[in-house]
Amino acid sequence: MDSKTKLRKAGLRPTKQRIAIADILFNGINRHFTAENLHNDIIQSGKQMSLATIYNCLNKFKNVGLISHLQSLGETYVFDTNVEHHHHFFNEKTGELIDFRPGDIHVKKFPKLPKGYKSSGIDIIIKLIEKN
Ligand SMILES: [Zn+2]
Repeated sequence: MDSKTKLRKAGLRPTKQRIAIADILFNGINRHFTAENLHNDIIQSGKQMSLATIYNCLNKFKNVGLISHLQSLGETYVFDTNVEHHHHFFNEKTGELIDFRPGDIHVKKFPKLPKGYKSSGIDIIIKLIEKN
């Protein structure tokens, strides 16, 4: 599916900027990235786009479910083109995230939830450091 079609199907108007971003993100390989990462990729491809525009596009993509994001890694938003439910390994040294399937981990005990809340899901991050 080309980017234009993908955007239209998701209910987004295929603007020039959105198409340029979608072309980079949906090349068939899932990736984790920040808006800054994407900004660098766009500049390297010889195009111009402001970081604000990129943030705007990414938020739109996120709102319609084209990408997801991980909030739990500090202040920087890390986006994810894998929108299936999954968990992550996190390399503490490089910041790299690696996906793993939800079926590969079982949570046996669940903490008592704070009063007035229900769980909306579990995201697991297993932190990695290299063995000596
Ligand atoms: Zn992921």
